[in-house]
Amino acid sequence: MESYKELQKLIDEAENIVFFGGAGVSTESGIKDFRSVDGLYNEKYDYPPEVMLSRSFFDDHTDEFFKFYKDKLNCKDVLPNVTHNYLKKLEDEGKLKAVITQNIDGLHEKAGTKNVLLLHGTTFVNHCMDCGKEYDADYVFSSDGIPRCECGGIIKPDVVLYEEPLDDRTVRESIEAISNADLLIVGGTSLVVYPAASFINYFRGKNLVIINRDSTSYDGNADLVIHEKLGDVFSKLK
Ligand SMILES: [Zn+2]
Repeated sequence: MESYKELQKLIDEAENIVFFGGAGVSTESGIKDFRSVDGLYNEKYDYPPEVMLSRSFFDDHTDEFFKFYKDKLNCKDVLPNVTHNYLKKLEDEGKLKAVITQNIDGLHEKAGTKNVLLLHGTTFVNHCMDCGKEYDADYVFSSDGIPRCECGGIIKPDVVLYEEPLDDRTVRESIEAISNADLLIVGGTSLVVYPAASFINYFRGKNLVIINRDSTSYDGNADLVIHEKLGDVFSKLK
């Protein structure tokens, strides 16, 4: 059986689907994966992205952090692609219970999916570090230099930076969703980012599906592995 037909069958039979997605979900919307070889690593900045997106860099070089952040992570005008839209459809049908994502681009929310667990936070919500007032993405991305609250405090994006812990509640809800799923679809991630990758170990359901262009270290544990682009797979499904 062709692999996408096999996936269709698993989806048709499933009642509690959870999708766990990485950067590959967004690349087809034109967002670069900064871990990939042709991603942001080879760009013009003096520091590598994982340094510029660290908490200590944010604290010590706030101005430079926001230069990079506003230049590279502005996804306000990016649109969801076939993968986001297909998952939204599955949620509407009551089959998909949660999308767990490592992406901060807000594309699942833009597609209309309601239960999105944002492991690495989002660029769409920002808070003043002094008074806690909330600001939207427009305010931060259109600000000059360091975005400031009306109280004078620095506004920090609700994005989990390197060196920062994941949000406890999001982790708990993600593990719970995975534990309850009968079909777990892992897509667009090479599963190397700890601790997100280890979440898969909580899956006790029937079928684990991995869809990724390259092979992953979890391929051997999966019931179905598809080495194709996500969009190519989901555009064939109904
Ligand atoms: Zn403030």
